[in-house]
Amino acid sequence: MLLFVTIALILAWITLAFLVVFDVREDMWWWVPDVQDEHGVDKDRREGFNVLVSALGPTLLVTLAGLAVYFRRLGQVRRFYQRKAKRNPERLVQTTGSIIGEVVGRDSLCDAIIENLRDTTERRVHIVVGGVGAGKTALLVRMTQRLAHKGAIPIPIRLRDYQKDLDFCKMARRRFEEEITPFVYSQASVDRIWRHLRYTENRIVVLADGLEEALKEKNGERDSYLRNAIRQAQEEGLPLVVTSRPHDPLKAIEAAIITLEPLSQEAAFEYVSAVDKGLDSRRLNRAVAAAGVAESPLYLQITKELNELDMLGHILLDDEDGAGDPRDRVDWQIRFDLAETWIEALVSGRLHPELPIGEEERKATVEYLSALAAVGLRKDRAEVRFDELVPAVNYHTEDDVQGPPPPGSHGALSRNAEAEDQNPNVMVRRELDRRLKRILSGNRPETPDNSTELCPGIDIRVATTWGMRMGVIEEQDGEQVRFRHSIIQAFLGSRYIEEILAGELRSSGALPDCRPRADQKLMEPGREITMALIFYACKESFRCSCKVGKQQESCPVAAARQLLIDMAEALLQNTLESRGGREFAVLTENRGRHLKVIDLYASALDVDCFDNAPHHKDIAAAISGEWGELWDYDQQTLVTAKKSLIRRMGAAARLVGAMNAGRPCYREMFLIGRQDPTYSVRFAVGQEIGDGGDAAYREIPAEGGVAGVAGEPR
Ligand SMILES: [Zn+2]
Repeated sequence: MLLFVTIALILAWITLAFLVVFDVREDMWWWVPDVQDEHGVDKDRREGFNVLVSALGPTLLVTLAGLAVYFRRLGQVRRFYQRKAKRNPERLVQTTGSIIGEVVGRDSLCDAIIENLRDTTERRVHIVVGGVGAGKTALLVRMTQRLAHKGAIPIPIRLRDYQKDLDFCKMARRRFEEEITPFVYSQASVDRIWRHLRYTENRIVVLADGLEEALKEKNGERDSYLRNAIRQAQEEGLPLVVTSRPHDPLKAIEAAIITLEPLSQEAAFEYVSAVDKGLDSRRLNRAVAAAGVAESPLYLQITKELNELDMLGHILLDDEDGAGDPRDRVDWQIRFDLAETWIEALVSGRLHPELPIGEEERKATVEYLSALAAVGLRKDRAEVRFDELVPAVNYHTEDDVQGPPPPGSHGALSRNAEAEDQNPNVMVRRELDRRLKRILSGNRPETPDNSTELCPGIDIRVATTWGMRMGVIEEQDGEQVRFRHSIIQAFLGSRYIEEILAGELRSSGALPDCRPRADQKLMEPGREITMALIFYACKESFRCSCKVGKQQESCPVAAARQLLIDMAEALLQNTLESRGGREFAVLTENRGRHLKVIDLYASALDVDCFDNAPHHKDIAAAISGEWGELWDYDQQTLVTAKKSLIRRMGAAARLVGAMNAGRPCYREMFLIGRQDPTYSVRFAVGQEIGDGGDAAYREIPAEGGVAGVAGEPR
């Protein structure tokens, strides 16, 4: 509309200019007011004036009209984008899992950051640091929304997508263009809009998620690349917020580092109990605390959803009288119960009832997802390609995704099975086949057990489509899936842990002397696989009938525990050997590895809780023996990790005391306290021993005893 008016006006001006310049016919001037009489300007002056106006006019008008069009489009683009950010911030932030719903308790942090970004003189790059599941992405979702409400243009980018080069401004510009596709007429117009929003109006704010996942291919030069990219953003005055897991390069980066504190207990409780299901608030509150749900928005979200479905009751057993099994109070037990009940709700259709599939298909979907999760865990990756689990022979083209698999296709699966006997992925696939058959025969007795038609209509493609709609995974390039939340991946993967870690578990369970296979990925296991081992031990703990002093022959809990200890020791030995050289490259390569060793020992203690005959004293002895070797570039992080391991040991000692299952490990903790050079670590030991009361007092060696063990610590 505006465009047409502009064109009409331009045409009018051109006509006028033509008439004035060539002065065609005097009588055509009937509509021009006679200026001479009123203002005393003579004919010549008027002509000159007219010529001037006529020559400049069109240019001026074209410019004005162009500006009007431009500003109108600018306003449209801005409103379009901000509407997206306000209504569906989670869709704009690509890294978010759909499980994450409403975010609570982060508003004051958001506002503090926004306030600083607004001030152009004080503005700094902000890096928000938090561990797995601390709610970094959820924070970005919230910030996206709040920034849009304040009139800014928040641009979330996913750093995982950038492996070669890192230029925050360029990346944001590209992302912005993708999001405003309906308004893109030419590169030049996007450029103009971008420059205006970025420099003139200063509305652009870049929210970058997952610094630890960027530039993974850069290896040695990675740190300096990251540093330079952030410095460049700082110099350009780009408002930038980056999230990251704690990792070393952060130390050298000039930015405001903000550690994401766990949600306050109160905020978490308020969120979970939004719908009152008549559950005793005291019990609910304790569950929130015990499961550490405040530390991870995922547990929080799951707890809330289950509360709304009224499915929390049986998880939160009331053990007020203290007569129950003390292990019911173990945090991991509650976390496991939450995750398991959530999956049950998916299978029974109480969650996502809108999906048009029955329980059988839902069960099969969960099996496929679990198998994929396990394959990913072994590689320490959230992405899994379809052909890693199911070879290409079972592939379907996009067209027949809905159709049944071609007859006999599963027979082909086992053709090379003999040769691939040791391949963990193949073992997972065979177990998957077995379980799918069981699902089918369980619900349709008329189907013969040796049927080649495996769960008709549910192949891997169909299953992942349902998995996507359940919000568990996202599909990428049609060739692979990505698990949206590491805790869910760990839980699902734990259902196939015996297959994916078959070799490792066997060697650690039956033959405790064997080291895990020299698999690089397992030498440095990710956090997800250690979580999966804890979930596994919790799930299979009913199979443990160990007695104090007499370990059962094949106890799953013992196997998982031994594997974690083996991995910790192997990793430590590995770094100690390579540290001999003291070369710079070796030192940088080993950064953070001892933190992982500490985490593995803590996980071994977590697993140990589920054994009827805890071995926590052995684990504590190993920790105490190696304490002096633990080392890291980053002293502060090391001390924090050490203190949390000590608290973990204290909790194990108290649990063993309550279970009456052997002597608690206070003596080992005491030895640690004697050898650590840091005051705050020694103080933490003192606190735990103090909490131990009489039991601790009995374990601490008297003065003579101390002399006897003095030479023990290294
Ligand atoms: Zn056992």
